[in-house]
Amino acid sequence: MHVPHTFSGSCELSVVIPVYNEEAGLDALVERVTAAARAIFADNYELILVNDGSKDGSWAAICRHADHDPRIVAINLARNHGHQLALTAGLNHVRGELVFVLDADLQDPPELLGPMLEQVRAGYDVVYGQRIKRHGETAFKRGTASLFYRMLSAMVDTPIPRDTGDFRLMTRRVVDQLNAMPERYRFIRGLVSYVGFNQTAFPYERDPRFAGETNYPLRKMLALAADAVTSFSVVPLRFASHLGMLFGLAGLAALVWVAWGWLRGGTVEGWASLAAVTLIMGSVQLLVMGVFGEYLGRMYMEAKQRPLFIVSEVRRHPIAANQEPEVAAAAIQTDEGIRVAG
Ligand code: UDP
Ligand code: MG
Repeated sequence: MHVPHTFSGSCELSVVIPVYNEEAGLDALVERVTAAARAIFADNYELILVNDGSKDGSWAAICRHADHDPRIVAINLARNHGHQLALTAGLNHVRGELVFVLDADLQDPPELLGPMLEQVRAGYDVVYGQRIKRHGETAFKRGTASLFYRMLSAMVDTPIPRDTGDFRLMTRRVVDQLNAMPERYRFIRGLVSYVGFNQTAFPYERDPRFAGETNYPLRKMLALAADAVTSFSVVPLRFASHLGMLFGLAGLAALVWVAWGWLRGGTVEGWASLAAVTLIMGSVQLLVMGVFGEYLGRMYMEAKQRPLFIVSEVRRHPIAANQEPEVAAAAIQTDEGIRVAG
């Protein structure tokens, strides 16, 4: 296989899936992903399921699968960390030479592994799914998502492809680069673009959720959008000076108008217009301070250097993925809080 690796993993493929309250669809997920991976890699893969502090029975279900299948690596986070950090936790545990990331709700068809792999074999390091159709998603979700990607691309230098999620197949050297990025506010699809190498889009139709409901309400989508913008752009900081110039010019024009009125013997009336101007200026100033605050707050949080995620348990079969038992044992000893099932 022609893949430019810098790292020789212990299996050919790692599938990474963050799981939050996905109990209802988990059996179907494991079944379809396993079938897709087996069809190509036989036993030479691992399936990493990261439980992101689910409130339902997801963890028990993951453990049940891990007990039956040594290819399954079960990672339990200490609490809910959010999609991007759960995915980060999974990426930190990969041992495969290729890494396949998908959502737990089967919106991204695991069967596309084969066609995406062909692209990797053709020399690409990143093959990212690009949605050409989204089934079962509201017009509002589609509208806001598309608006977001267009706004983002206007503001950032890193070209972040639109209508992509985290569904992608990557070579190990890309994942190694991602793992070397210490930042806390992770907009992973953006970070992947930032890494570079050869990347290509893989158009696909996004299926509706298999079971359960979306864990991305508007609030989380806005937070992700804010992470995306602030991690890749300082353009909003420049809004302050642009707005300043704009309002300065408006003020000058108003001044000319007042002077003109005075010369012609009339006075400009109205405290209402004054009040309006004062309020608008006040709001613009607060808005600009808010934008500064957003960056400052992120700097503060980054400066703390807390761990990105806290792992409570890892269940990995000691001799899984063709690894020498002593190597596996060493890996287990260095990673704190790990217990091994079976
Ligand atoms: N997810 C997670 N932690 C969270 C929220 C979501 O690990 O706090 C996972 C979820 O289980 C799924 C993926 O992230 O595998 C995408 O979430 P979801 O399907 O709810 O988002 P949508 O597809 O609606 O954007
Ligand atoms: Mg989904």
